[in-house]
Amino acid sequence: MVLDDLGSSLRGTLDKLQGKTTLSEEDVEEIVKEIQRSLLSADVDVDLVMELSDSIRQRALQEEPPAGTTAKDHVLKIVYEEMVDLVGESTDLPLEDQTIMLAGLQGSGKTTSAAKMAWWFSKKGLRPAIIQTDTFRPGAYDQAKEMAERAEVDFYGDPDNDDPVDIARKGLEETADADVQIVDTAGRHALEDDLIDELEQIEAVVEPDRNLLVLDAAIGQGAKDQAQQFHESVGIDGVMITKLDGTAKGGGALAAVDQTDSSIAFLGTGEEVGDIERFEPSGFISRLLGMGDLKQLSERVERAMQETQEEEGDWDPEDLMQGDFTLKDMRKQMNAMNKMGPLDQVMDMIPGLGGGIKDQLPDDAMDMTQERLRDFEVIMDSMTEDELENPRSIGQSQVERIARGSGKEEETIRELLEQHKMMQRMMKQFQGMGDGDMQRMMKQMQGGGGGGGGGLGGMGPFGD
Ligand code: GDP
Ligand code: MG
Repeated sequence: MVLDDLGSSLRGTLDKLQGKTTLSEEDVEEIVKEIQRSLLSADVDVDLVMELSDSIRQRALQEEPPAGTTAKDHVLKIVYEEMVDLVGESTDLPLEDQTIMLAGLQGSGKTTSAAKMAWWFSKKGLRPAIIQTDTFRPGAYDQAKEMAERAEVDFYGDPDNDDPVDIARKGLEETADADVQIVDTAGRHALEDDLIDELEQIEAVVEPDRNLLVLDAAIGQGAKDQAQQFHESVGIDGVMITKLDGTAKGGGALAAVDQTDSSIAFLGTGEEVGDIERFEPSGFISRLLGMGDLKQLSERVERAMQETQEEEGDWDPEDLMQGDFTLKDMRKQMNAMNKMGPLDQVMDMIPGLGGGIKDQLPDDAMDMTQERLRDFEVIMDSMTEDELENPRSIGQSQVERIARGSGKEEETIRELLEQHKMMQRMMKQFQGMGDGDMQRMMKQMQGGGGGGGGGLGGMGPFGD
């Protein structure tokens, strides 16, 4: 949890500015050092970190804080603006007919990302198709086909054809009805000439509107050269960073973005087709700096709550903070969560929670996959009002009845009850947090709070 420590030491440094109206050179130096440490351990390229440090230093010392602004707000604003400048805006992805080709090394996550993007476009009302051209990796066809099925999108591939260029050509024809054609390509362990040749030939046939480079979040300092070579060969218009659900913060990919003069399009945050997010600078910056992101969290929570409320009538998150946490509460929360994203990601965004409560939870506590949530839904549908209100009253005979009614295994029902107990315990802990971050978070969610507007609206992550 090194990064969490860095985040909190940055926060600590910023806290020392409390009450000050001007910044000394030493103040600025201390902040710059903390930011450097965070970014370097998130694998951000050394040169980029140095450039950023220089701009922050210069601006913090030269620019006059506007009247009524504290030194802390002033420097936060500068840090945030410079960070946004560093990570860039999200890659433009118009919701219209287009062809996208994916490039990247083997294992970077291309095939998974192809399915995720297709899923994402389908949720936007477009009809996507995946064209699988990897004839190099055994099993590539089956994997891609299965993922396309999970994403419920059109698919073309041919396990009996060993000419990727020919597959690409036929694939384009066969999926001509689709709005968005996503061409998945083969990778190699390292950039080899034959991979580049193959990519260039496919590119010539496909004539994509966009080439996206898929990079593993753990890529580190090697990103620059790799991106450069792909860029010279086919031209890179955007980057997808995968495996951000792991420990790597993806900072290395920024060098690729810089090198190709492109931007980040998507983030991959898990192995399922739904584990994809459009890139959003403020959340990414918070992750890089190891600080929670209240802005993104509150927006997501707010959106999810609105949708849940439309479906279920009133639901107030403060209810969760009081009284008993029943299965009914859990169901409402599951619905909201469904829309917010996986629990562990949501928790990562809450300042102060990153390394705390989360580490004390058993691993499977976070295993709230879409599939599991759906199973739980079905099971709850087979429960009586009384069982939903008093889950403790559910004994073996009820479990058997619910299993029969829902068509689910008794084991799954016991898992649901376990999960509920666990969440109940967690809620108790939140309740015990008193005036801490959690309550502030709840307030923010309710206040409709993207934070105080103005240039500092995006400053949630650094909130004081
Ligand atoms: P490709 O060789 O570039 O096509 O890579 P794959 O799509 O086959 O992915 C390689 C491995 O990484 C597979 O086991 C994927 O399930 C996994 N993977 C891909 N994206 C993610 C992600 O965002 N999170 C996690 N945890 N695993 C991922
Ligand atoms: Mg693949």
